[in-house]
Amino acid sequence: MKPFLQKIGDRLLDKFSNNMHNVILVLPSKRSELFLKHYISKAVDGSIFLPKFYTIEEFLESVSGLHILDNISLTFRLYNSYLKTPSLKNINFEDFLNWSNLILYDFNDIERSLVNSKDIYTNLKNVKELDSWGVKDWSFSNDSTSDSQKKFINFYESLYALHTNFNHSLLAEGVAYQGLSYRIASEKVYKSKFSDKKIWFVGLNALTKSEESVINYFKEKNIARIFWDADVFYFQNKLHEAGSFLREQRKRWSDIDFKWVGDFFSKEKEKFQIIACPNNISQARATAQIISDFSHHDLKNSNTAIILSDESLLLPVLNNLPESVKQLNVTMGNPLIKSSLFDFLDLVITMQTNSLDYKNRNFYYKDVINLIEHPYFIKLNKQEFCVEFKKYITKNNIIHINTDDFSNLNFSQTSTNFLFYFWKDISDGINCFEGLFLSLEKILIDRNAIYESEIVKAFSKNIFILKELIEDFNFDIKLKTFRQIFKQLLFNEVTPFKGEPLKGVQLMGLLETRTLDFKNIIVLSVNEGVLPKAKSMDSLIPYDLRRYYNLPTYSERDALFAYHFYRLIQRASNISLLYNSEMKNFNSGEKSRYITQLLSEYQSSEMEHLVYKGEGFDSISPSRLIIKNVGLESKIKQWALNGVSPSAISKYINCPISFYYYYLANIRVEETLNEYADASSVGSIIHSTLDQFYNLGVLEKKHLIENKSLILNEIEKQFKNQFSKDNNIKGKNYLLLEATKKLVSDFLNLELKLLNKSNMDKVIVEILAKEKELNYNLLIDEINFNIKGLVDRIDRVGDLYRIIDYKTGLVQSSDLVFDDFNDLIKNPKKNKSLQLLIYSYLYLKSNPNTLKQQVVAGNFSFRNIKEEFIVVSKRISSRDIRPLNINQQNLIEIENILKSILKSIIYDDFQQTEDFSRCEWCEYKQICKR
Ligand code: SF4
Repeated sequence: MKPFLQKIGDRLLDKFSNNMHNVILVLPSKRSELFLKHYISKAVDGSIFLPKFYTIEEFLESVSGLHILDNISLTFRLYNSYLKTPSLKNINFEDFLNWSNLILYDFNDIERSLVNSKDIYTNLKNVKELDSWGVKDWSFSNDSTSDSQKKFINFYESLYALHTNFNHSLLAEGVAYQGLSYRIASEKVYKSKFSDKKIWFVGLNALTKSEESVINYFKEKNIARIFWDADVFYFQNKLHEAGSFLREQRKRWSDIDFKWVGDFFSKEKEKFQIIACPNNISQARATAQIISDFSHHDLKNSNTAIILSDESLLLPVLNNLPESVKQLNVTMGNPLIKSSLFDFLDLVITMQTNSLDYKNRNFYYKDVINLIEHPYFIKLNKQEFCVEFKKYITKNNIIHINTDDFSNLNFSQTSTNFLFYFWKDISDGINCFEGLFLSLEKILIDRNAIYESEIVKAFSKNIFILKELIEDFNFDIKLKTFRQIFKQLLFNEVTPFKGEPLKGVQLMGLLETRTLDFKNIIVLSVNEGVLPKAKSMDSLIPYDLRRYYNLPTYSERDALFAYHFYRLIQRASNISLLYNSEMKNFNSGEKSRYITQLLSEYQSSEMEHLVYKGEGFDSISPSRLIIKNVGLESKIKQWALNGVSPSAISKYINCPISFYYYYLANIRVEETLNEYADASSVGSIIHSTLDQFYNLGVLEKKHLIENKSLILNEIEKQFKNQFSKDNNIKGKNYLLLEATKKLVSDFLNLELKLLNKSNMDKVIVEILAKEKELNYNLLIDEINFNIKGLVDRIDRVGDLYRIIDYKTGLVQSSDLVFDDFNDLIKNPKKNKSLQLLIYSYLYLKSNPNTLKQQVVAGNFSFRNIKEEFIVVSKRISSRDIRPLNINQQNLIEIENILKSILKSIIYDDFQQTEDFSRCEWCEYKQICKR
């Protein structure tokens, strides 16, 4: 079917031949202009005089003689007028930004709908009057209004004064917002320079009163024609919302303008499918699958359009496009605040504004880490630098980062050192961003990254405007509120992606499709609440008042989108409408009523209703995830040589695949910096302190008594080193320090109590080893396993040898009881016993003479000190549990356990644990999808 704009091109050539210099074409968008020019150029040989092209907004702007300003400039001017309106309460800029967009939206609607602002803003109090207008459920129509209602009425009425002041100030400058420019155009149209031209208005739809008024003027002068694009399917059906605007226009203007209304929906479509997708990502994947079936010709020659009703799907769609799409033209605006660059700038602002909370202007380490891990920071710096920096602050446990820390790392040598200068005011922030954009533009140009360059340019432009406005208006804007201002001001801004519109696959929003026709159409997110949008308006004017004054409401917005939707599919021959069927939130997962309407009304072709199952993307069932033990020999040998610790053995018992991830695949969760003392740092502090104050040889009561306070002081000192910069332990860390001192003090008391007993029994306690590294090589099937362990203490109480592990956590005696040695292989909960037995094995292998003595292994549990020394024990019967004497026979049992586990590591596949409770705190949950 011939596209609408091609027909317009033919018609122009037919009517004006090759000379159109006196003709003006008014279209809905720049894109329409490009396509129309393309069709004209295809139809003629040689050069011709083209008509003059305008978008409808440009046309009215030109008639009005006013320059339409961007949203940021309007917001600053609006606040300036606000401050000069005496009836309005003085508020700061940040608070003002919370609703400035609503006010601008309302002013815009009032003006372009040619409504009297005074009527709208001064009638709220006349509730009785509203009753007589027949407006139902008017919330102010009660006899007594509440205090908050009164406040709202007063504020609301003051908006009239603001509106008047604002308009005056803009007109004095020769500038306007769109609505104001439209009203002025309707007032000044009789002076227009276009009166001696032929004007064609092409492909417009919902006209505002001001547009109607301007077009009407030219119609009455008989120099204008309007070309509507519609189909009888919705135009002649009085109940169809897509045709409601055109039916209204028909009452006003002659039938001749409607001769172009076609009957395209009666023709059979090649393919018409409705596809339910289980989530948003699968919509992107389904799109890729559909597009893979299109011909090379259709993909190359702009015959295919992907329409995103929800712009957040832009990146998923881009990332999933198949290789057959060689050229792509993205013509939808991507909201700046949804871009990755916005996230990056937001992190910079957050780091800077958070630093204001610290007396000495330090940066909080988490803010800095978030920033340096961001892809934009990595783009600008060497990845190694980010790694180095993280290592530095983690190693030195730096919570608050100051300028010295940056200089220690030669920060001045990075290309983004300026991000870490402390901002004094908002202009420092703006200067910083300007520097950043310059650096980014340079590297992006080098990398030919066109889309990203467009995003940087869009931010750069907005920051430039913001800078000028801050200088011009000199409002009192606090640095602390920069983030909010930045976000609010960019709220409506989009990245204008540019591309070659006449080639390749077209990716666009629904509004960008105006007047365009494509053979293949894929529309995503055809969901209720998205297409059409939910019933809400960004307006301070109550719905009933809007209706009374014929200001647009969501009904008009819905009708407008219905028109764009139906018009888009009327000529297409291959249509796929996708919707997200995920029932996550209330009302989501529901297909749009446009689909329901089509399913019940459209008869000309069969409509397939399909479900996308994601063939080829099906993820493997998590319970079946297995790593085959092939080709891993060298990795296993290397690990065996590096050292087999009891924790590695325990990890394997707990979950073989987590062992594989950690020790063979080397997938490690990055070490994080501890702001608060956690169990592991408390453990290290206690271990190192005891190591420092306990000497080898006979343990004397006197030594412990004399050193007790020194030991506690050392604990405090180490806490301060690790968790405080100003030698002051505060808050949560203070409480943890006190708790740690109490644990150690209790332990020392227990030690003294046991020494007393030994003294009474005339038995000495002798420390034979402390923090002792033990090793033993075990050869299994020609692989040398270097079994290793670091044992906290080995002592002798009389003739009893004790292998001791200090546990700062809780251990109960039942934890160290096992039934038989196989228990230790199967049950991860017995890992403490296994660890102690491996230590014992290592010690006794190196000190075989000790086997002649009685040897036990056990824990001192600092959180369960009342149980004293807890010994690994074996259950003989239900009532008989005995401490395990580690003799030759038991040593063989321990070696068998080791051999069994290590053989399994050599030969078995690595499987996931079947006990899901073990996954709860596992660092590999995401990989395993558990
Ligand atoms: S998530 Fe579960 S199955 Fe996966 S590695 Fe961790 S413990 Fe094993």
